Amino acid sequence: MLDQGMTYKHLVEQMNVNGIMPEEIECILVTHEHSDHIKGVGTAARKFKCPVISTRGTYDGMLHHIGKVEYTEIKRDVGFTVGDIDIQPLPTRHDAADPVCYRFSSEGRSAFIATDTGSINMEIKQAINDSDLVVLESNYDPQRLRNNPLYPEYLKIRIASEDRGHLSNYQCGDALMSVRPNQRIFLGHLSKKNNDPDLAKDTVSQTSGIRRAALDCLDCNLDDTRVLKI
Ligand SMILES: [Zn+2]
Ligand SMILES: [Zn+2]
Repeated sequence: MLDQGMTYKHLVEQMNVNGIMPEEIECILVTHEHSDHIKGVGTAARKFKCPVISTRGTYDGMLHHIGKVEYTEIKRDVGFTVGDIDIQPLPTRHDAADPVCYRFSSEGRSAFIATDTGSINMEIKQAINDSDLVVLESNYDPQRLRNNPLYPEYLKIRIASEDRGHLSNYQCGDALMSVRPNQRIFLGHLSKKNNDPDLAKDTVSQTSGIRRAALDCLDCNLDDTRVLKI
């Protein structure tokens, strides 16, 4: 399981809908310590009796919120294995202690999930091009963010920051320019206030050249949170 930002009740409902049994969860990987990624980590880890895996900086940042769990430390850029899945953590650029994204591969198939990063480096671009399934952040439309009266200036600057922010629809489209038609692409971590699925798909399709119908969105809003079983 990758991150766990739902209540335990919501998670169990989603697992039931998607036919995922608790005993199938071998560990909970965490990308970084922000609440939308860790809110349910502690409860889920204790209920499923599985370890939490993250960088030390992420663990130190979330310990206070998740409570006592079995913990395994990993280091950015150092691959590891869970069951028969090889996992490669890659550093992201975000306002967190030691954030990473993860690429998964097993038996010739691969998936790459990257959200909460202000920019894309060569390693991430390579991982996008090398994976059968890609979930990439398409967080905000720059114009909507700029014109959003509810967001204070410092927050707008943080979100748009290349060092510690999120990917815009245009940055996401740019990063997907070299994908092939047989790769499955999901747009993820869409802002509810500064984006919407249609706008994200339009911009990413125009920027990347990917057919709009070939793009799908994950977690567009909390009512539609889906568990993606790979
Ligand atoms: Zn974050
Ligand atoms: Zn987030």
